[in-house]
Amino acid sequence: MLFLFLASGQLLFGQYDILIINGKIYDGTGNSWYYGDIAVSGGRIQRIGKLTNASAKDTINAKGLAVAPGFIDVHGHIETGIFSQPTADNYIYDGVTTVITGNCGGSESDIGDFFRRVDSLKPSINVASLVGHNTVRNAVMQRENRAPRPEELQAMEKLVDQAMKAGAVGLSTGLIYIPGAYAKTEEVVALARVAGYDNGVYASHIRNEESQAAEAVTEAINIGIEAGIPVQISHFKVSGKANWGNSRQTLDLVKAARSNGYDVTIDQYPYTASSTNLGVRLPDWAFAGGNDSFMARLKDPGTRARIKKEMLQQLADYKYKNYSYAVVANYSADTGYNGKSITEINALKGRKKNRNEEAETILDMMAGGGAQMIYHGMDEGDVKYIMGYPFCMVGADAGVPVPGKGMPHPRAYGSNARVLGKYVREEKVMSLEEAIRRMTSLAARKFHLRNRGLLQEGFAADIVIFDPVTVSDHSVYVQPHQFSSGFTWGSW
Ligand SMILES: [Zn+2]
Repeated sequence: MLFLFLASGQLLFGQYDILIINGKIYDGTGNSWYYGDIAVSGGRIQRIGKLTNASAKDTINAKGLAVAPGFIDVHGHIETGIFSQPTADNYIYDGVTTVITGNCGGSESDIGDFFRRVDSLKPSINVASLVGHNTVRNAVMQRENRAPRPEELQAMEKLVDQAMKAGAVGLSTGLIYIPGAYAKTEEVVALARVAGYDNGVYASHIRNEESQAAEAVTEAINIGIEAGIPVQISHFKVSGKANWGNSRQTLDLVKAARSNGYDVTIDQYPYTASSTNLGVRLPDWAFAGGNDSFMARLKDPGTRARIKKEMLQQLADYKYKNYSYAVVANYSADTGYNGKSITEINALKGRKKNRNEEAETILDMMAGGGAQMIYHGMDEGDVKYIMGYPFCMVGADAGVPVPGKGMPHPRAYGSNARVLGKYVREEKVMSLEEAIRRMTSLAARKFHLRNRGLLQEGFAADIVIFDPVTVSDHSVYVQPHQFSSGFTWGSW
């Protein structure tokens, strides 16, 4: 077969690799769909339009289906999972072709080496990474609960700089996690500034998503202003019953920053439960100095009582009567706890039904190595209100689960399908064009992923074909290992 390419890479005559015909093209800009064909060769989109005489090795008839750019998930944690599941089926069946990992302050420490290993793996998805503040701080200062000395700050700056030079897309923080929680704003500003020199983004799991969410959003915005770097606020939410409805106030802060000329955007997973570790229920200081110090604090009756007092204060602040909103996703020391709430586990242990005893149960589980949790702490009204914001992207906040293993949050399987099915088709929170724009070009623009996120000639052939009439998520909390449906042809 003879191939002749023009300078643009366009095929002059001959055969394309793939032709997608008769589809409704949603190009990722947010503009209205149109009917057209797409010709792909060499992993690139060569032509779009009515391609009546074109031929290809593979032709896909997308009649009645939507053809869109592959979705870009801006908030992932796939460092380990991708190596055991390189096909990343949970993402592929949800329409995702690119994942940005290294979020919430946690990334691989050698980003260049990580990219080389991912490349040699030839995974089904494209992978970009942020460099994590917690990773960098841990490398330099371990779990010290104090400000860095000048030479320590310099060492951290150097690590961020190296990661950016190796291709990181920005700096992430997880300011509720250890040791990130020990950092003051100035430290983060200094490191974000370094990431900003190389066109990076500052992506933050902010310091508080509950009663102090407004202060934490303000801190993230100010870090961006002072460091001169665009800001992405991760998994935007307000948690804790007492704070429901406050998304109006916190989102107003984002809108105000934008109207003042600061590039601040957000992302979200479309669920009312969050997922993180059990340790976030304890005060930060309990973990200072590392695991031995933590275990010693648990054994000391006075210190244990102080920890418990702060835990119960947090519970009261959120207006919860007990820990029934906290459900175990995975407790390695006893997987029999998986799927049960702290209240249920406390009862299983034969303990009295009260929050004081439940806090004891949590401390016992922390001594047993801690657990991955699902917290049912958000309001559907807030979730929808945040989703209505035009500069909100989708980030599943997930890894690559091993099918059937553990109890991951359903967001790992169904985030995009849920937005398209439940929120676009059924509840009409936004148009399909708009949802696709958020999942594609908005994300590519924000994280500087060039030549992706749009169906445009010359762009990477990250293409997803799906049925907007049937696309649905099926993963639920009690049975999470269910793929989304509707993505008939997957992606390339
Ligand atoms: Zn996070």
